[in-house]
Amino acid sequence: MKRCPQCEAEYDDHVEYCFVDGAELVYVARAVGKTPLPPPPPAPRRSILPLVIVFVFLAIVAVAGLAAVVAMLSSEPSTTAKTPVQPVAPTVVPATPDEPAPILIGVDSEPSGAEVWEGRSKKCEATPCQVEHPEHAPDNRTFVLKLPGYRDATVTMEEVGAPLFATLRKRKGPRPSPKVRPVPDNNAPDIMDER
Ligand SMILES: [Zn+2]
Repeated sequence: MKRCPQCEAEYDDHVEYCFVDGAELVYVARAVGKTPLPPPPPAPRRSILPLVIVFVFLAIVAVAGLAAVVAMLSSEPSTTAKTPVQPVAPTVVPATPDEPAPILIGVDSEPSGAEVWEGRSKKCEATPCQVEHPEHAPDNRTFVLKLPGYRDATVTMEEVGAPLFATLRKRKGPRPSPKVRPVPDNNAPDIMDER
């Protein structure tokens, strides 16, 4: 089959020129039964492509929606954001109370230089001195002050932090005095040297 490019008139294959305008006729593909094969493939391709596009679009929308929600949640609770900051400070503050410096209790005596004992442990070598008083320690601790030549003195805490003081009394009883020794009237240097 042929067709005239000028007037679109159709002619049989044996016709060379258009009867109307004399234009040279061109062949026209009359193929009718060989073209149905191509259509099927494009159909599925066009059905899948939109699905992919829709899926991608939905994914983008979902991500954008989540991003928007996250943005709203993060920007909206500006008041709530102050709350988490406060717990940080309390955690730092208790760090100090956990290890408080022990209270130092001053212990003194008259005369001074006495050892301070609590039970069987010596707390200090010679008064005046200071005894540590941890927070968990009882408030009624009792100390014993010991000084050679004096009677042991016991002092009991009455108030935490208040200094303790004890007056030591000399031991009673005869004490050997090196001066109690008869010295001959005549100065004998020999005796002095023997000492
Ligand atoms: Zn023609």
